Amino acid sequence: MIIPIRCFSCGAVIAHKWEEFTELTISGIEMADALDKVGLMRYCCRRMYVGHIDLITETAPFSTSIQ
Ligand SMILES: [Zn+2]
Repeated sequence: MIIPIRCFSCGAVIAHKWEEFTELTISGIEMADALDKVGLMRYCCRRMYVGHIDLITETAPFSTSIQ
């Protein structure tokens, strides 16, 4: 789905760095270096990004309400 707003373990706000992180990884930077550049240093917050699969574009068509 979408990246969680806060880290599940420490509660730090992490979602605002997601777009910058994806741009860095798409440009070819290693995931660990991209996490360092966006400022995610705690391993609990880093695992939120490493384990995330962005499925919002695939699930969004099924979540619309009928009007
Ligand atoms: Zn954390």
